[in-house]
Amino acid sequence: MADQELDLFVIGAGSGGVRAARMAAQRGAKVAVAEMAALGGTCVNLGCIPKKLYSYAAHYAEAFEESHGFGWSAQAPTLDWALLKANRAVEIRRLNDVYGAVLEGAGARLVCGRARLVSAHEVEVAGERFRARHILVATGGRPAMPEVPGGERAVSSNHRVDLPDFPRRLVVVGGGYIACEMASIFRGLGAEVTQLVRASRLLRGFDDDIAAFLAVEMGKKGVDIRLGMHLQHVEPDGTRLRVALHDGQVLTADTVLYATGRVANTHGLGLEEVGVTLGPRGQIVVDDGYHASVPSILAVGDVTDRMQLTPVALAEAMVVVDRLFGKGQRQMDYEFIPTAVFTHPNIGTVGWTQREARERLPAVRTYQSEFRSLKHTLSGSSERTLMKLVVDDASDRVVGLHMVGAEAGETVQGFAVAMKAGATKAHFDATLGIHPTVAEEFVTMREPQKR
Ligand SMILES: Cc1cc2nc3c(=O)[nH]c(=O)nc-3n(C[C@H](O)[C@H](O)[C@H](O)COP(=O)(O)OP(=O)(O)OC[C@H]3O[C@@H](n4cnc5c(N)ncnc54)[C@H](O)[C@@H]3O)c2cc1C
Repeated sequence: MADQELDLFVIGAGSGGVRAARMAAQRGAKVAVAEMAALGGTCVNLGCIPKKLYSYAAHYAEAFEESHGFGWSAQAPTLDWALLKANRAVEIRRLNDVYGAVLEGAGARLVCGRARLVSAHEVEVAGERFRARHILVATGGRPAMPEVPGGERAVSSNHRVDLPDFPRRLVVVGGGYIACEMASIFRGLGAEVTQLVRASRLLRGFDDDIAAFLAVEMGKKGVDIRLGMHLQHVEPDGTRLRVALHDGQVLTADTVLYATGRVANTHGLGLEEVGVTLGPRGQIVVDDGYHASVPSILAVGDVTDRMQLTPVALAEAMVVVDRLFGKGQRQMDYEFIPTAVFTHPNIGTVGWTQREARERLPAVRTYQSEFRSLKHTLSGSSERTLMKLVVDDASDRVVGLHMVGAEAGETVQGFAVAMKAGATKAHFDATLGIHPTVAEEFVTMREPQKR
């Protein structure tokens, strides 16, 4: 068994792990990174990338339909699910290779296999033992599958990229962003979708108006959203599944997809055995410098269960590398992190919800605009757009910016820069719109809401 002395051993070659390994190696550190599955982690293989590719695919169905109002005519389109999956797989494989090349180019060694901590400075992978000054755990998360009778017949968001047959009837369980995205995407691709949400609303943590508006828009597109509803059991029904709900109703589905949250991937890593403190959800508890309770062990990304977003894992990894091998000046700021939900239509959001702003500030103004976009005057679609600003009354600073509408993520990214820079409502008012766009509405709202 080789005994290797390293500066940094990274467990997990996902978003955070690859970024940390690459940057540390580029700064001259001797680095190895262990990965037990495909390079790139959740984002590349199961999450952001395949999901967004499927979301693009799903939008075509709408685009074909809407094109009639613009004078186009075409035969009813059909989806080749196998071809979509095959093309998606080619792109994911390309990205896996890019990640491999990035690590190799930086001089970080990739070790394939499941890693396990042996001591505060030692890791074992595939029978090989490595000794390192620092160990970074970036093992991400895994789906939390609630236990209901027959629940093992359901699939998680980890499996849906590879569903062998296209699910004509799909039941999605969950009300979070991944559940909403899955419901929207499969509906767009042509499935009959029922979404079961235990809570009385979608998207806990998002602005109330935005969540309620999205539910209406998704409903208009045909997603059967059932709030306050949960699944009692799943049983086979010939080649299909019988899905019993708590109120006695029974649904028939080809596939039941659970998207009921994700938990930290800490099981079986040997963390507790070497003295690392885990939080109540199994997450690694870290300090501001991402050190766990054992100082030589650090953690970033979903395994710390803070904000489960790729850019957050990347940014945390860069802070760690800067502190360990650089000037130690890089800071992580969790305020005003923009994010999108790739539902149909999209959500884009940055900053505080109206509720959060009211809790934090003495007085808040809100501006809201709901309208049918120019495109849909001809497309025939009844889709509407909602845009909302939350403003601190005392400083005039815009503290929340939210949108439900086409390309909301693309729109909000730019505004996030302005908000990070402390833009006030007066700055928004002084900015001329780009006409005719949907985004111009953010700089033309003048009348605060009366409530
Ligand atoms: C369906 C879905 C959609 C998402 N969409 C978005 C989105 O649109 N935008 C966004 O910003 N975020 C999105 N996310 C979240 C995003 O994917 C994660 O926040 C991000 O991947 C976290 O990066 P990470 O480095 O912490 O972990 P991961 O990327 O999950 O990487 C962890 C890696 O560690 C490996 N590993 C685990 N244990 C071991 C071990 N013992 N030994 C060796 N290797 C190990 C795993 O195989 C994995 O490759 C989505 C997630 C899901 C599930």
